Amino acid sequence: MTMYFNEEHSALRDMVRRFVDKEINPNVDDWEEKDVPLHELFKKMGDLGLLGITYDQKYGGQGLDYWFDLVFLEELGHVKADGVPMAIGVQTHMATPAIHEYGSEYLKETYLRPAIAGDMVTAIGVTEPGAGSDVVGLKTKAVRDGDSYVINGSKLFITNGCQADFVTLLARTSDDPGYHSFGLFVVPTNLPGFVVSKKLDKLGMRCSDTAELFFDDLRVPAQNLIGEAGEGFVIQMKQFQHERFYALPGSYIGARDTIDMTIDYIKQRKVFGKPLITKQVLRHRLADWITDIECLKQLTYHIVRMKIEGLDATREISMGKLLAGQLSFKVSNGCLQMFGGMGYMNESLITRKFRDTRLLSIGGGADEVMKEIIARVEGF
Ligand SMILES: Cc1cc2nc3c(=O)[nH]c(=O)nc-3n(C[C@H](O)[C@H](O)[C@H](O)COP(=O)(O)OP(=O)(O)OC[C@H]3O[C@@H](n4cnc5c(N)ncnc54)[C@H](O)[C@@H]3O)c2cc1C
Repeated sequence: MTMYFNEEHSALRDMVRRFVDKEINPNVDDWEEKDVPLHELFKKMGDLGLLGITYDQKYGGQGLDYWFDLVFLEELGHVKADGVPMAIGVQTHMATPAIHEYGSEYLKETYLRPAIAGDMVTAIGVTEPGAGSDVVGLKTKAVRDGDSYVINGSKLFITNGCQADFVTLLARTSDDPGYHSFGLFVVPTNLPGFVVSKKLDKLGMRCSDTAELFFDDLRVPAQNLIGEAGEGFVIQMKQFQHERFYALPGSYIGARDTIDMTIDYIKQRKVFGKPLITKQVLRHRLADWITDIECLKQLTYHIVRMKIEGLDATREISMGKLLAGQLSFKVSNGCLQMFGGMGYMNESLITRKFRDTRLLSIGGGADEVMKEIIARVEGF
């Protein structure tokens, strides 16, 4: 029992920790070479009830509150390759929250339930070759035709895109300007007209598959629209809040692990006759980062309290996402420096941390996009 967590939280923490230690970390070096086998991993997680912690028990979820979600995400922060928690996060926090909140009974039974069980792998399709930060600029079209929508267009940088059974897809349903011309669809990838046009090669997150997708006259039933017609953009903006929140716990836990690993190294590494840890400039740098990490953690705990109260945490989540992206790369880059030449060798885990943590300031809304949101909410 601690200030925030009781025995039930601890039991979940132990279970996720065991899962990370036994089923994930021993495999990550292998997966970095050839992608995470998502169906296999998610089935194991689904069997343990880990893919729907806050989701309604009616659809196989656990019906637990956001503190349990936080515990789950904190423990995933110990995974030694960020591409694994990212793939899991797509399943739990990026591609399914909108179905849970706005989907029809049909969509929840047909897609949410198997996603929670780990029987279906999901992806979220928003970004396009011509539209990333500027989501409103997306061009993929969904045109209503009888009981279907016909989808044409392409999506870029889609995580889990090569393995997904369905993509939660944002498409334009009319050319009218403004925010009410979009639909968010559940698009099964076994429909004719779905093409994985390219598997992309990346700087980091190398165990995560990232795809370019192409939709060629793909006909999806109209009942696969999530929520009201025209409201897809608004629904996706809400879904982004779950996506961005997902990134926070893993960031402060991962950064702390990086620091601990670095402290272990500089304790034994002698330079000019003394262990590096004795250098005040390095000790102070580490103390600065640990202070920043505590601030991010406390902001995250504050967000959990806001979410539980049902308050809009857009401002705080945007701040947290901004801080998480900047801090995790600052720490991995700075720690790499403390490893010296060893930090530049691929045999050191710090090289992977350095590559993987570079993404967060770009993906899921770049730092500049977070700053625009914060400025707007602040009223300037
Ligand atoms: C590995 C990886 C996985 C991804 N997974 C997914 C996924 O699963 N699903 C999905 O839909 N997308 C995914 N993305 C896409 C990601 O969300 C976008 O890359 C991101 O939103 C930025 O869009 P963009 O790449 O088009 O950059 P652009 O919009 O072209 O922006 C380029 C840069 O300009 C700067 N910028 C942006 N806006 C402003 C501004 N207002 N003022 C000043 N500077 C600004 C930022 O630094 C930004 O990084 C993924 C990307 C990567 C790299």
